[in-house]
Amino acid sequence: MKLSLNVDSLQESATIYMSTLAKRLRAEGRHILDLSAGEPDFDTPEWVKDRAIAAVRAGATKYTQVAGLPELRKAIAAQLERQAGRPIPWEGVVTTCGVKHGLFNTCFTLFGPGDHVLVTTPYWTSYPQIVLLSRAEPLSVQGAEENSFKVTPEDLDHAVTPSTRGLIVCSPSNPTGAVYSLEELEAVARWAKERGIWLLSDEIYGQIYYGEGRRAPGVLDLSPDALGPYVLLDGFSKSIAMTGWRLGFTYCEPELAAKLTALQSQVTSNPATPSQHAALAALQDQIRASASIAEMREAFQRRRDLVVRLMREHLPDVDFVYPEGAFYLFFRIDAFIDSSFRDSTSLCRAILERSGVAMVPGAAFGDDRYMRLSFATSDDVLRQAIERMARALRGEAVESTT
Ligand code: PMP
Ligand code: GLU
Repeated sequence: MKLSLNVDSLQESATIYMSTLAKRLRAEGRHILDLSAGEPDFDTPEWVKDRAIAAVRAGATKYTQVAGLPELRKAIAAQLERQAGRPIPWEGVVTTCGVKHGLFNTCFTLFGPGDHVLVTTPYWTSYPQIVLLSRAEPLSVQGAEENSFKVTPEDLDHAVTPSTRGLIVCSPSNPTGAVYSLEELEAVARWAKERGIWLLSDEIYGQIYYGEGRRAPGVLDLSPDALGPYVLLDGFSKSIAMTGWRLGFTYCEPELAAKLTALQSQVTSNPATPSQHAALAALQDQIRASASIAEMREAFQRRRDLVVRLMREHLPDVDFVYPEGAFYLFFRIDAFIDSSFRDSTSLCRAILERSGVAMVPGAAFGDDRYMRLSFATSDDVLRQAIERMARALRGEAVESTT
């Protein structure tokens, strides 16, 4: 079949591939312990659902403005304003069908043929693919492993080219859980500003943070003089368990926001209207939202501690990035690569086959020496899964998983 150049090198999302495979095997009757999906296991809070249902009954079934309901954009801007401590024009907020869509809008609008975009590696699997869909070229930039792979201006200096127009940073990171301190983020932001490079800051896990304060440091915490051109990407999927509602947003200068909106007007129009009402509820009821977010964050933190303890107990020689945010553990598996399992992908499939534990190979995130597990699942599943995975890695028999 002859397809367009647009999708010439396009690959299916590896994270979605693994979670779909896990679901399929489970439907076929296998006992699968699924640590693949990067999705909170919590349901959307009932009061958020109730508000969306009530809005639908009251007629929220029509198109809205392309960039979203003005009251939603204003509520998002007000939240950003509380974070930033300075005025945030609501015209800079564009709501999108998830953060993935916001990233696509941004890359497609800012980058094109001949442009290079630096992608901090290990990266969330969709970044390079979205850059490629824009016909720009993703370039990896990796920080030191001892620094949880976080990049410094020196690392960026080594990777930059005269055609570099963008830099994508994700903190807390998917897949490592690493979090940039304010100083580290400021150094990166200043580096980008000095070169006129667009900084795309994906802060989708900002509120799933185990350090001090309720939120990981983000671009709005930086003093305006440290910031050059930037786009902030965030949304409702992870922090308040709304993955299926598909609602994210971008915040940037209003002139760019208008262009993002024009693109959206030709491609998707507004994000689903009921989802916008659900998000508005989450923003308007600060007290209940904070309680729901805190409850989930505490559960994730407890599981982070559990996973770290289980890994040290069952696989004491395996190194990993200590997660300070998000709900992933990125751990080294290169010691288990041999002539039968030549890379993280074949090893990942073998573990799934032998022990029923589904994870995502590091290759999907740009580092074949690693594997990613998601700890957004129950303590019981985590206990069983890590024990089984450890036995499978050591080549021991694992009890029947059917
Ligand atoms: N950015 C990162 C780092 C993610 O892990 C995800 C996970 N889906 C997304 C963006 C996309 O989020 P959404 O579901 O809101 O599209
Ligand atoms: N972001 C999640 C993950 O990394 C969900 C799947 C996806 O959208 O990639 O697993």
